[in-house]
Amino acid sequence: MKIAFDKIGHSQKDFCLNFKNISFSGNLIKESRDRVKLDADIKGNLELICDRCGEKYIEYIDSPISLTLTNKVITTQDDLDIIEFLDGTIDLNFIIESEISSIENSYHICNVCKDDITEFEKEF
Ligand SMILES: [Zn+2]
Repeated sequence: MKIAFDKIGHSQKDFCLNFKNISFSGNLIKESRDRVKLDADIKGNLELICDRCGEKYIEYIDSPISLTLTNKVITTQDDLDIIEFLDGTIDLNFIIESEISSIENSYHICNVCKDDITEFEKEF
């Protein structure tokens, strides 16, 4: 799903899309001439691979995200939650795909291992 940067105005524009089993819904609103604010929720069942036992498992994801989108080159590096769309088109699929891959690439363990670790800690 792509939305032209110029189509976003000062009234909230809602969107909702699905990627894999994940729903990505929220809204876009113009913040300044070259900045758009995105507030959304990522919800759904995501298949992850446990970093401890290597088994696949399903985790229910429910996380809010808040990003700033810009159609200009960012000159300051202090704001990490800013994404450049230099061609003037906001690509919502790109955003959800990169959010999901950052979840997939972070450290996570399945429920079996979580219980295991709790048991392990109890012994000491
Ligand atoms: Zn595990």
